[in-house]
Amino acid sequence: MSAPHQPAHLDHSRSRRLLERAREVIPGGVNSPVRAFAAVRGDPPFIARGEGTSLIDEDGNDYVDLIGSWGPLILGHAHPVVTEAIIEAARRGSSFGAPTAAEVDFAEALVEAHPVLEQVRLCSSGTEATMHAIRLARGFTGRDVIIKIDGCYHGAHDALLVAAGSGVETFAQPGSPGIPAATAALTLTAPFNDLPAIEKHLQRQRVAAVIVEPVAGNMGCIAPAPGYLEGLRRLTQEHGTLLILDEVMTGFRLARGGAAERYGVDADLVCLGKIVGGGLPLAAFGGRREIMQRLSPEGPVYQAGTLSGNPLAVAAGRATLALLDEALYARLDAIGEALDAALRPDVEGRGLSMTRVGSMFTIFFRSSPPQNLDEVRECDLDAFARFHRAALDAGVYLPPAQFEAAFLPATLDDRALQRVIDGIRAALAVVDGAGQKD
Ligand SMILES: *Cc1c(COP(=O)(O)O)cnc(C)c1O
Repeated sequence: MSAPHQPAHLDHSRSRRLLERAREVIPGGVNSPVRAFAAVRGDPPFIARGEGTSLIDEDGNDYVDLIGSWGPLILGHAHPVVTEAIIEAARRGSSFGAPTAAEVDFAEALVEAHPVLEQVRLCSSGTEATMHAIRLARGFTGRDVIIKIDGCYHGAHDALLVAAGSGVETFAQPGSPGIPAATAALTLTAPFNDLPAIEKHLQRQRVAAVIVEPVAGNMGCIAPAPGYLEGLRRLTQEHGTLLILDEVMTGFRLARGGAAERYGVDADLVCLGKIVGGGLPLAAFGGRREIMQRLSPEGPVYQAGTLSGNPLAVAAGRATLALLDEALYARLDAIGEALDAALRPDVEGRGLSMTRVGSMFTIFFRSSPPQNLDEVRECDLDAFARFHRAALDAGVYLPPAQFEAAFLPATLDDRALQRVIDGIRAALAVVDGAGQKD
């Protein structure tokens, strides 16, 4: 293999000036922490616009976008059909705080698409969806304790922003100052892909719910080990505990029916977000009718939102979902397979590993693919940071942390795919020669 051309550093001067201004008025200059590129010790490009599968920054650099707004943009940026739907909806009024026909159509489409959903309620972010699902699970079971999987992310609210405690038997530690220890004490943690750890908890405590990302995407992409999801279903059923699949990332990403369809796994509740909103703020939670009927006003468990079911977000979601057919998922898998076939030899030949489930993938700076968060922590994070910078210079916009999955858009054409492959190859070569260069 000939040595790929080493990418030159891009000009980011306008982005840098914007970052300086931003830092004066916004903590860290960003409205969500991972955007700051801190994990790769870089400065983020400020984005001027998105066109299909490209992002163009304020300095005029363009990248193939493999973040897609952290998952939602399965159709790429400013898809004409989605854009039209939003504009049309805006002309009819942006918010009513009252029921609409469109949200009924949308809820019917969700229930039809996802095997776990019998009823669904809309909200505005994935954080809200998991927060409400946890309250509902507690209200339904009359139990307080929940189990979360170490390294899975479910949003930034108190019950789920916790880290594993030091001993195997301990409760979770608050994941941030400001989260009361008393709240964190109601959350138990277990490693991903570890059924005995779950079983031990369930035998000792009356647990309301286990919440899991069926394919982990927030510690890099980690597939469930064979039997893991089935085992969670069986164990939770045996103990009167609800199983909540957090499909905010995997829903409509891995199949129209999410990971539940792809792996044929059942659950009690499911959370959706990201793709369902077509790039606008929309999320949903739902599941078995018997459980959902406990929600206010039908039942006593309170949940609400001023902008829930917002007409613009519902229009974007409906337009997006209408385009997600079998052919699209077949194409998405084919793009993933082509990327995999092209890059895996380069990756593994360097003693690194690559994980991929459909259109989600991660290159881990570790020789074997990790099975859980502790194993992701063993990655060479310095090497990842150099790799990320070199990929950016080569025009490939990858998540700025080893602990995040990359997403392929279904609209990626052959030319853009080749640019991704060449760019990642060049970036891997830069990391190899890191002693001399950069
Ligand atoms: C992104 C994400 C969330 C949080 O969604 P927000 O819309 O950012 O609040 C929850 N769960 C999973 C699995 C996610 O990937």
